[in-house]
Amino acid sequence: MNTPLDALWQRVRIGPVETRNRIYMPAHQPTLAAAEYGAYLAERARGGVGLIVTHGFHVHPASARGGAASWEPGWAESVREFVGPAKAEGCPVFVQITHMGASGHRRTDDLAQWGSVLAASAIPSPVHRAMPKPMEEHDIAEVIRGFAETAAHVQAGGGDGVEIHGSHGYLLSNFLSPWWNRRDDAWGGDTERRTRLALEVGRAVRKRCGSGFAIGIKLSLDEYLGPQGTTPEETVRVVHLLEREKLFDYVCLSHTDYHFNHKLVPPASSGETAPLAENAAKVRAALAGRIPLLIQGSVRELATAARIVERGQSDLVGLVRAHIADPEIVNKSREGRTSEIRRCVGANQGCWRRLGQNLSCTVNPAAGREKSHGATVILPAAQPRRVLVIGGGPAGLKAAEAAASRGHDVTLWERSNRLGGQVRQAALLPDWSSWNFVVDDLAAALARRGVAIRLDTVATADSVQAFGADEIIVATGARWQTSGFSTFRTDREAIERAPDTHVLDPLTALANLEACGRSVLIVDDNGDYLPHGLARLLSATGRTVTVLTADAMPARKLEPTLDWPWLMPRGAAAGVKLRTSVFVERIEKDYAVLRNALGGPTEVAMADTVILSMMRESDDSLYHLLAGRGLPVRRIGDCVAPREVDDAVLEGFREGHAVGTGAVEAAGRVR
Ligand code: SF4
Repeated sequence: MNTPLDALWQRVRIGPVETRNRIYMPAHQPTLAAAEYGAYLAERARGGVGLIVTHGFHVHPASARGGAASWEPGWAESVREFVGPAKAEGCPVFVQITHMGASGHRRTDDLAQWGSVLAASAIPSPVHRAMPKPMEEHDIAEVIRGFAETAAHVQAGGGDGVEIHGSHGYLLSNFLSPWWNRRDDAWGGDTERRTRLALEVGRAVRKRCGSGFAIGIKLSLDEYLGPQGTTPEETVRVVHLLEREKLFDYVCLSHTDYHFNHKLVPPASSGETAPLAENAAKVRAALAGRIPLLIQGSVRELATAARIVERGQSDLVGLVRAHIADPEIVNKSREGRTSEIRRCVGANQGCWRRLGQNLSCTVNPAAGREKSHGATVILPAAQPRRVLVIGGGPAGLKAAEAAASRGHDVTLWERSNRLGGQVRQAALLPDWSSWNFVVDDLAAALARRGVAIRLDTVATADSVQAFGADEIIVATGARWQTSGFSTFRTDREAIERAPDTHVLDPLTALANLEACGRSVLIVDDNGDYLPHGLARLLSATGRTVTVLTADAMPARKLEPTLDWPWLMPRGAAAGVKLRTSVFVERIEKDYAVLRNALGGPTEVAMADTVILSMMRESDDSLYHLLAGRGLPVRRIGDCVAPREVDDAVLEGFREGHAVGTGAVEAAGRVR
C-alpha cells in the first residue's frame, strides 16, 4: 500500500556510501564527551535515520582557541568512540569539519594558543565581535593543511566521510561571500576567486583521503544580506564551479550567518517551515543529478520532508530538532506509528538555549543522557508498585509516563477537568500553540501505557491515604500572587495600592480578557512571553496596552531561545507599547505612579487595570500534609519551586523513573 511518506524510503548513493533512506540528521552541537556523543548518535541510528552528520570539529587552533585538537592524529581514537556505535546500528556517519573564521572565538588562557581569529577580511562577526586578522598566504596554506589532516583522522577513526563547513559565516563562507570577502587578490574579487579556497580545501582532502571516502560541502544558500552578500543565484554559480572538478560527493544547503541567527534555528513561534526548499530546487537543477543535494532548516515533520523530495527540491532532507525530541521518528513513521511520535515544540529551551552546555530537550529529557536513560538502558521494574501521581501538568504527566514505562501501576488525579496545567493556558497566547504538543503527546503516551486518569478529582490527605499507593508523587504546581513583590525592590514587600484598584494576575486575565478594562498596564518582572502575548491579545480587542519592566530589555528570556526577533515586532505592530527600566511605585484607581529605575521624577500612567506578571508561589500544602503523615511521598515541578516547563518535565522524568528504587525517602525529605 502506498503511503504519503513513500518517497522517503529510497536509498541514495553519496559517493562510496549508500544512505538507508532520504532522511538525515544534520550537524548540531550537543556538547557531549565522545562516549556520550556516541550513545546519542547511536540512539538516533537505531531510530531509523538514513544518514548522520556529526557536529563540526575544528581543523585549526584559530577556529576556536581552546577547543578539541581535531587536527592532531590522536583525535582518530575519539572519532572511533563517537562514530562506531551509530555505524554498528547500520547508519553511515559523516563528520563535519570546520574553521569558524570570523565567527570563531579567542577564549583560552593557554598562551601558546593565544591569538586573533582569522578571516578573509577585517570584518567582525556579530557573534563574538572579534576583529579578525585578514589571512596571509601562510595562514591559508596552514588551514588547507588542517582540513586535509582532520579529514584523514576522520577516515582513520572509521568515519564514512566528511562534510566541509562552508556556511553560517564560518571561514569558507567568509571567502565565498562578497560581503565578508573584501579582498582583491587571488582569493577574492569575482566568484571564481572567492570560490578558490573551498576548491583548494576540496582538492587537499580528496588527495589525502582518496576516492573511497565521501566528501561533501555545506553552503549558505542565502545570507539575507541582499545583493552584496551570498544570494541563491550566487550559490548556483558557486555550485557550478565546485562541481566541475568532481571533488565533492554532495552539496548540503543551509542558510544565513550570525547576522540572522534567529533564522538559523527558528523557534516554532516564527511560523517558518522549510524556508530553503523553493530556492534549493535551483541548486538541485544546477547539479542535474550528478551528485545529490541535502537541505535542512525548519523541517520538523516527515510529511514536509516527503513533499520536498516529491517536488524535486532536494534528494535528502535533514531534521535536527525532530530527532532530538524523538530519536525514533523515522521508524515510527515508517511503521505507521505516527501517533506515537513525540513532537518537538520548537521552543529551543533544551537545544539552542543550552548551546555550549550539555544538550537536553523539553519533551525528551533523555536527550544527551542516553547512556543512563536511553531506550535500551531503562529496564522494567523488578517489583511493580502502585503509584499515585497528583497533578496533571507537565511534571505530573511526565512522572506518570516514566513510572508506567517501567511497568508500575500508575493512577493520576487532576483537580480540573483537563490535563495540562498552566501550559494549556500559555498555549492560548499568539504563536504559542505548539506548547500543546507537550501535553497532548504525554496524554497519548499515558493512554497507551494504561495509566488511569481521574479528572475533577481534588486530592486531600485523607483521600490520598485511603488510596493506599506504594509511592505518591505530588505535582500540584504553583499559583500566581499579586502583591507586587519583586527581588529588584529590596526596599518593599509589596506595591502600594489604593482601595478599589483593579489588579489581576496574568492567567486570570488570560482566562477572561473581558475582566480587563480599556487601558491596561502589565508589569513584566520575569522576562517571559506571558505578559507580551497577553498584551497582544488585549490590544487586538481595542484596548490600550503598555508592558513595562524594570529590566533594560523587555522579554529578556525570549532572546536566548531566538523568539525575541520574531515575536517582539509583532507586539509592536499590534500597538503594544513597551517601557523599560521602570517600576510601578503605586497603583491608584485609574492610574499608576511609575518611577524610572535610573532616577528622575515619578510619572503617571493611566490604567484602569494592572496585571502583575511577577511572582508565583509553590502549591505545596498537600505535599507537607502527606509527608507529615509519614507517607511515601515525593514532590516535583513547580510544587517544589516555580520554574520553567523543561525543569518540570525533567523532574517528572527523573522521579518517575526513580519509583521503586528506594529513593523516595530521601526525596521526601529534601525535595
Ligand atoms: S528542546 Fe524544544 S525545540 Fe529543542 S528539540 Fe526539544 S522540544 Fe524541540
